[in-house]
Amino acid sequence: MSVNKKIIILLGVPGSGKGTQARFLVDDWGMAHVSTGDLLRALEVDPNGDDNDKQKLADMKAGKLVADDLIYKLAFAEIERNLALGKSVVLDGAIRSVEQAQKYNEFFIAQGVNDSVLAIELTLSDDLSFKRLIKRKVCADCADIIPYAVDNETKTKCEKCGGKLITRGDDNPTTAQKRIEEQGNAKLQPIVAYYRAGGHLVSVDGSQPILDVDTQVKKILTD
Ligand SMILES: [Zn+2]
Repeated sequence: MSVNKKIIILLGVPGSGKGTQARFLVDDWGMAHVSTGDLLRALEVDPNGDDNDKQKLADMKAGKLVADDLIYKLAFAEIERNLALGKSVVLDGAIRSVEQAQKYNEFFIAQGVNDSVLAIELTLSDDLSFKRLIKRKVCADCADIIPYAVDNETKTKCEKCGGKLITRGDDNPTTAQKRIEEQGNAKLQPIVAYYRAGGHLVSVDGSQPILDVDTQVKKILTD
């Protein structure tokens, strides 16, 4: 599959399905998913990890600081590594402020890939975000997250392993409301505007069924 972009940035409020769409691009098209959370977890258990970096990570976990410089360093190295392998890179949830978007942009320019960056916004209202968060389920055995779908209430078994589907403890109205305050449209739209102003934005209606969103995202990336 020939993809027309090297960097795909999925933007969306919680529950918009960006994690699911990222997984489709990885599974179906072999894109590299660069997740800052995964990179930090990998550093923590890497016996050859830089001591200074590990100390920063420990401080961050203790709530002493947010080591933005460490996160950029890890993410940029991983993106660079994958670009060198000829892979397209998908980012989801990595960019949570305009300042971060600008930092990434500087990096993309330095890498010479700025013309090949596309941000895809999966649009969703805060109201639907809330409804999806409190209705999604997770497999008690394999921890697979079953994103919200209209028939979720009738689903009881994991399609992958047959395990029991449960509602996660943190998918309750209070936590959902807090996540929307932190990552809802009020926080997201300035980032969307940043990419729109740079001519790097396409929006897809994220309230559609997951597979319809998948079809549109893939069409955009091959047009
Ligand atoms: Zn399962």
